[in-house]
Amino acid sequence: MRHKPDTDLSEILEHIDPELFLDYEGVRFKRTFGSSGQQLNIKTCPRCGGNGWKVYLNASSGLGNCFHGDCAGEPGFNLFSFSRHLWGTDSSETIRRLKDYARDQGWVAKRSTSAEVEEVTDFDMPESIELPHGGRNLRYLEQRGIDRDLARFFHLRFCHKGQYIYIDGEGRRMWQNYDNRVLIPIYDLDGVLVTFQGRHISNDAPRKYLFPPGLPGSGRFLYNGHNVIGCEEIVICEGAFDVMATKIAMDSKVHLRSVGQIGTFGKHLSHGDHNGQDQLGALIRLKQHGLKSVVFMWDGEVDAIKAAIESAKLVRSVGLSAKVALLPEGKDPNEVPPSVAVDAYERAMPCSDVRLLRELMRRARLRESKPE
Ligand SMILES: [Zn+2]
Repeated sequence: MRHKPDTDLSEILEHIDPELFLDYEGVRFKRTFGSSGQQLNIKTCPRCGGNGWKVYLNASSGLGNCFHGDCAGEPGFNLFSFSRHLWGTDSSETIRRLKDYARDQGWVAKRSTSAEVEEVTDFDMPESIELPHGGRNLRYLEQRGIDRDLARFFHLRFCHKGQYIYIDGEGRRMWQNYDNRVLIPIYDLDGVLVTFQGRHISNDAPRKYLFPPGLPGSGRFLYNGHNVIGCEEIVICEGAFDVMATKIAMDSKVHLRSVGQIGTFGKHLSHGDHNGQDQLGALIRLKQHGLKSVVFMWDGEVDAIKAAIESAKLVRSVGLSAKVALLPEGKDPNEVPPSVAVDAYERAMPCSDVRLLRELMRRARLRESKPE
């Protein structure tokens, strides 16, 4: 059987501190200082069994060698091969145990599997294929940084040629064309498909986004909400592609991988529905599942920041902590490098923070002073 390369392994090895690891495993060692920095000098080699203090691992990289005669000609050690010999385990068991250890030390794997979804509905999406298709992704998505795993995670589809058929208010059979569009399914918190959007793969298309008439408006739902149930912390973006870009950005940081991402389909948080069938109602439900705080990351333009502050107040009124992240002016999460989105998230401020209001005023003044 061919093994899929474990993309997590190199990341785990970087995450594990060699010295703490040896300590935890009860390996006898002392610290020494060599020409290439701090070294861990280990009494017994797990490979040859020599116990003359001739094994050295670099204290930060975990790379090293055994200088006992019996290991002559053997490759150097890294934490993976060292542990494999130490435990006498095969590769997959070694990876499993290293993962367990890394998790105990705060490492979080990227989430690559979406929650269960229910695709049975009383409407039909336009004829389309699931992405990736035959192992291949759409070039349009790749160019936006959305790889095959992410396309699968968000259940994206591609409609080469197809229509959405519906009956209008006067009982007439109508159709709406979705040729050359990425279909973005929208699920409610229970993972039931409730509606969808179609994004044209050309930026020159007269209507970039299409919404199916006759279905409940997407503004009632939280995009990707079914995937954040149980999260204590979430970030709230605007559109579906902002959610995807923010997931990419946050997955790049191990400590942010437990944060969920959702989208509101605009700079507005719907509320006031008597049965709670709106976005605020969905947040209240998420709170019952452990949600504690949200960060609004709408675009960096003055009106969007104002709207985010208003929505943050609304969210605070239902007992959640709410902050506002400031992206560069006029930028969405999908228009900035991942590090900029991460930075904005980490510097997010409570909606009443005076620094936030000052920055808002500064941007408003700047905008006024700019010639039209
Ligand atoms: Zn050895």
